[in-house]
Amino acid sequence: MQIILKAEREKSLLRKHPWIFDGAILRETGRPRLGATVDVLSHDGTWLAKAAYSPHSQIRARVWSFNAATVIDNNFFKNRILTAQAKRADWLAQQDTNAYRLVAAESDGLPGITIDVYDKVIVMQVLSAGGEKHKDKLVQTLASLYPDSCIHERSDVEVRKKEGLELVVKTHVGELPEKVLITENGLKIEVDLINGHKTGFYLDQRLNRKITGSYCRDKDVLNCFSYTGTFALAAMQNKAKSVVNLDVSDNALATAKRNMALNFDADICNKVTHLKADVFEQLRVYKDAGTKFDLIVMDPPKFIENKNHLVKAARGYKDINRLACDLLREGGMLVTFSCSGLMQSDLFNKIIADAALDANTDLSFITRLHQDSDHLIAASFPEGYYLKGLVCVKTASV
Ligand code: SAH
Repeated sequence: MQIILKAEREKSLLRKHPWIFDGAILRETGRPRLGATVDVLSHDGTWLAKAAYSPHSQIRARVWSFNAATVIDNNFFKNRILTAQAKRADWLAQQDTNAYRLVAAESDGLPGITIDVYDKVIVMQVLSAGGEKHKDKLVQTLASLYPDSCIHERSDVEVRKKEGLELVVKTHVGELPEKVLITENGLKIEVDLINGHKTGFYLDQRLNRKITGSYCRDKDVLNCFSYTGTFALAAMQNKAKSVVNLDVSDNALATAKRNMALNFDADICNKVTHLKADVFEQLRVYKDAGTKFDLIVMDPPKFIENKNHLVKAARGYKDINRLACDLLREGGMLVTFSCSGLMQSDLFNKIIADAALDANTDLSFITRLHQDSDHLIAASFPEGYYLKGLVCVKTASV
């Protein structure tokens, strides 16, 4: 089965970018089905890649390999996973953690497949037709490489439907504990493997929590979209004066409370408030009341699912960041993020600049933040860079 590209459309593949969009395809041979392995050829018949076919997606095929001899078998998955492990080995040796991203999908040569390790539990998320087709090989390989681990699948993400796949949650090997205790930067954190976001937790913010914490000494901190309160843990580890964890989810706030108690005595826990409220509304409540903070963390969920959402999302980001500027004392810090891959870094900077202008304050970007090193980005796959953040300091407008 083959995909033959239109003239000039092989350029991205020659640069080892792994996606083949439907608009680049001239014709197909052999009627490939969902997840089938196809050979990709240029217009003049030159062999380019082996890819997994996705009939329902705009990304019509995702490359498994740029080597014609590759066979998609257990050994293929073993090599990919061992390479992924090796890429992270030096980084991991320096970390105080038992939870990390082992495979970052396209960036580790396994399109649509994410694998996270939470101590003795491996959680995989399979979002591509190719990954689904070969899932048994992936599970067998993980089981042989990590014989003591439970292997759980959290493929309960809506984007699977774009690939023509049903949502799946399944424990493939071993028994899934409801919760697992992980460590990160000297902190203990409870991860809910059943209901937790993504594969259970936001591992990508690990380094940013550490950096943010380092700015929190003696500060009044507002942690917006706090989820399980891990920015608050980093803040209290660094002796913040007070923290408010702000989130709409009762469950997340209850876990945040437990996480606090796991790490600190009652005196310190009492400095942390858990407030269930909508961030957009609560920031206005604080503004009206004249409440001020020294450091505000703004880590909203993904506002952008597709390009059509960009303008609305930009408005949302601007709104909350403008309000945050209002609530900061002079010299205060805003630590603000966007986890949407579709939000380019330059545009995000501009939105924050506009927010500061509207709030009539001067902001300086003192540190640029990004996803932690285990969420690595293949040089050929810039889309892998999705999490961006800015540490900003506020001064009066001059
Ligand atoms: N900062 C967290 C991750 C945030 S995830 C960490 O590092 O772990 C996004 C969180 O925003 C979720 O917990 C969700 O419940 C919350 N949320 C979504 N919309 C919200 C809103 N409008 N107001 C308050 N919280 C919201």
